[in-house]
Amino acid sequence: MEYISTRGQVAPIGFIDAILMGLADDGGLLVPKTIPQVSADTLRAWQGLSYQELALEIFSLYVNDEIPRADLKKLVDDSYATFRHEDVTPVRRIRDDLYVLELFHGPTFAFKDVALQFLGNLYQYVSQKTNSIIHILGATSGDTGASAIEGVRGKAGIRICILHPHGKVSKVQELQMTTVDDANVLNLAVEGTFDDCQRIIKELFADVDFKHRYHLRAINSINIARILAQTVYYFYAYFRLADQGQAGKISFSVPTGNFGDIFAGYLARKMGLPIHRLILATNENNILERFVSDGIYQPGEFRGTYSPSMDIQVASNFERYLYYLYGEDSTAVTALMAQFKAEGRLEIPADKLATVQSEFAAYGVQNDECLDAIGDYHARYDYLLDPHTACGVAAIDKVAGSGEATVALSTAHPAKFDEAIRLRSIAQTYPPQIKALFDKPQHQRVVGGTNDAIKDELVRFF
Ligand SMILES: *Cc1c(COP(=O)(O)O)cnc(C)c1O
Repeated sequence: MEYISTRGQVAPIGFIDAILMGLADDGGLLVPKTIPQVSADTLRAWQGLSYQELALEIFSLYVNDEIPRADLKKLVDDSYATFRHEDVTPVRRIRDDLYVLELFHGPTFAFKDVALQFLGNLYQYVSQKTNSIIHILGATSGDTGASAIEGVRGKAGIRICILHPHGKVSKVQELQMTTVDDANVLNLAVEGTFDDCQRIIKELFADVDFKHRYHLRAINSINIARILAQTVYYFYAYFRLADQGQAGKISFSVPTGNFGDIFAGYLARKMGLPIHRLILATNENNILERFVSDGIYQPGEFRGTYSPSMDIQVASNFERYLYYLYGEDSTAVTALMAQFKAEGRLEIPADKLATVQSEFAAYGVQNDECLDAIGDYHARYDYLLDPHTACGVAAIDKVAGSGEATVALSTAHPAKFDEAIRLRSIAQTYPPQIKALFDKPQHQRVVGGTNDAIKDELVRFF
């Protein structure tokens, strides 16, 4: 298995080099050169596997022999041993046609742990095997930072710096990041939005000299390892629904920000998983919903919502989708991205839009609709949704056909977003791990949102 760039200017590289490269050196995103195909027979053979066994099979397709199977198995087992549920990502039946895939049983109570526990262990493994220095640099709208820090804190040979928008993450998210006191962790609270943080990171990574001099590695979902790790639970959920007699195709609803999680679903479908519809749920930051409805990709005005991890205007993984939409034509993708950079928008023709609309349904959830879904599902089903999951569920109620078996990806535990839950007068008890955060001292530096300000901090830290 080799990896190539969506912009076509990087010679094919292996799995480990792809992980280390993060953003492709030509400014594009890395994708597998060919997508491995999973046959109906293989699907049947995988039906009874545990989460860890399934992850091992799927990773094996992408890693080839670069990591010996016994080592890969240990990486997988170690990564999911930190989860609180024996199924890792259990599926809960809410009603006949609605299931919730709970992705929040990892150390930081958000779905990012599924990929970042693995990536943290993988970085440590690669650092030991290849003697590489690993300096992780990432931007977070809240959950990635906490999860990435948790994945590598205290690990020898690794340092991590995370940028988050100052005052624009939830209290629990902030505490999860900033109460970590390991010396290999630096939290920068940036005066600006998440899009500012993400742009700075992208520009620093695009400065190939700077990136190489400081051994910068990515943990954002531009890193292909994250996408691959997230395909696993689409398969896992499909099998759990089959256990419950849901034969045939099923749909998934995905609360979307950077298009990483839903791209993993798209990849799973391309591998051969019978997915009927991918429902793309956004909050009021609805650039992707608008793209699916009118074929124009153009950031709007930033809105603060109850689901801050989706408060994103420029979706970093979108380019991966464009690549497949344009039949793996890297020249077309390069032109589109150049147009986007120059004009701040891009537009696809009608035939492409028809393809998009056959592959995704989309709905942008307003703030009140999000809270209504939380209140409604709590009252009707005694099930407490976090505001991100609530966007996914509200989108299902809008666009899924009745009786269509649909899985809502639950991306966070409600305790992470009590600010929103309380607005519907619902009282929840915090899990003890979250309660304990409120008594700990915080470690962070507030910095201006310019590339130079961040560079200064990095040069001092790395
Ligand atoms: C990151 C995140 C999302 C969005 O996922 P993307 O891969 O960026 O689309 C949704 N919900 C929660 C809770 C998240 O942390």
